[in-house]
Amino acid sequence: MSRPADVDVLVVGAGVLGVTVAYWLSCLYDCSIVVVDLARTAAAHTSSRNTGVIHRPFYLDPRKKKVFALTSLLSHPLWGELAESAGLPWKPVGTFNVAVEEAEMPTLEKYRAWGVKNGMDEAEMELLDGGGVRSREPEVRCMAGLLSKTDVSVDFGAFTRHLWRLVVSRGVRFLGGERVRSVRTRGGTMEVGLRTEAGYDKIGCRFLVNAAGGGALEIAHGVGLGLDYTSLNFRGEYWVVDEPFAGRVKSNIYRPPKFPQFPFLDPHFVVRADGSRQIGPNAVAVPGPYVYSGIGLAKLAGFLSRPIQPKARLLMNSDFVSLLAGEWRSSLSKSTMCGRVRKFVPGLDEGMLNRRAVFGVRSSLIGPSGFVPEAMLLKGEASAHIVNFNSPGATGAPAFSAMVVKELREEGFLDGFRERPAPHFMRGWEFQPLISRF
Ligand SMILES: Cc1cc2nc3c(=O)[nH]c(=O)nc-3n(C[C@H](O)[C@H](O)[C@H](O)COP(=O)(O)OP(=O)(O)OC[C@H]3O[C@@H](n4cnc5c(N)ncnc54)[C@H](O)[C@@H]3O)c2cc1C
Repeated sequence: MSRPADVDVLVVGAGVLGVTVAYWLSCLYDCSIVVVDLARTAAAHTSSRNTGVIHRPFYLDPRKKKVFALTSLLSHPLWGELAESAGLPWKPVGTFNVAVEEAEMPTLEKYRAWGVKNGMDEAEMELLDGGGVRSREPEVRCMAGLLSKTDVSVDFGAFTRHLWRLVVSRGVRFLGGERVRSVRTRGGTMEVGLRTEAGYDKIGCRFLVNAAGGGALEIAHGVGLGLDYTSLNFRGEYWVVDEPFAGRVKSNIYRPPKFPQFPFLDPHFVVRADGSRQIGPNAVAVPGPYVYSGIGLAKLAGFLSRPIQPKARLLMNSDFVSLLAGEWRSSLSKSTMCGRVRKFVPGLDEGMLNRRAVFGVRSSLIGPSGFVPEAMLLKGEASAHIVNFNSPGATGAPAFSAMVVKELREEGFLDGFRERPAPHFMRGWEFQPLISRF
């Protein structure tokens, strides 16, 4: 296949976000779209390296995480439709959030209220005392638990690859194994420098959508956007739980986070879409977005990249330093990791953890006021950059990317492209009803 020299829209990143953006654009516009990714296949990174839970928004603060909450709520039925039509796993296992200590009890009530505020039906949640939880989950010990009945375990990588095949069948092209190295605006269009296997190349585009996950902020910096922000990377590590114990736990079991001011949940007991059980993830600080093993010394220069002040400020926060140290301890010691989950699943033993599972890395944005709670859409002259697209990003991606396309349309960024008179949407994935909710 010949390489395109110039295209209408270039999407950077073939993760769940970039692929859903490509889906909406290819439905709505009759224009040339290319997706470029440093990996050779779609969903090679975070979109296949996560917990695999379609989260219901009960645990998301409606003030600080309003967009994540709404997009998660709205995307749930879209994923359900896709799973059904494509025959992909859809395991409605439900999630318990359990209070182990008295101090955690108010969080459960707060979560229930947040769930309703974020649009969940009251009947989707049930607050149980410790005995009630135990009657459903005999291996769990706690003072009380909030059950979110509609949480589902899925395989986001499989979802993304399925959608990817669909957009490719509609004419979207893929440049795999090519890294975006530079971006610049030239006379109202974009010139994008690529690192390819053969060396360096260039591609021009009329509009660029940057959905490069852990690489997105660096690309945005290239056009002078988001310069007050930097990112920190945290590797989430999982262990597979051996049978027969694994199968005795039927739902996802979470505990309220110890440090709710930081964007991490403590390790949970999860039921995977393939039926296996795992514990994790922790949140181990690593110096780059693709450091899946070791400490990534070679990437240390990236960690020290500017602006350095937000990182320096965080490192002076004693809670944050305590969190960093605890997470590293649970990376280095299986018994520490096991001990964190044993607090609510006491029958779990480190002898049952004999295999590590797939790890994923989240890139969290930090700015002048610390961790940024929501994803951000930064707009340039001929480009849009989505940064900080973290959990529950995979859950919310279909609605989030529709929201991005809506905003770009309304602000005239896509005016030069010919609209399709009769857009062809997948069943349940129609644009108008979705965006009418924003
Ligand atoms: C441990 C963990 C657990 C999680 N659990 C859940 C969960 O249970 N439920 C949930 O909803 N969410 C979860 N998430 C969050 C969710 O996985 C992410 O929000 C989502 O996958 C992000 O998708 P993305 O497309 O932005 O990123 P990615 O999937 O990482 O895609 C970005 C793509 O951009 C490419 N790229 C990067 N830089 C460049 C460049 N310079 N040039 C070309 N290509 C580039 C990368 O190769 C990559 O393929 C979890 C995340 C982690 C880390």
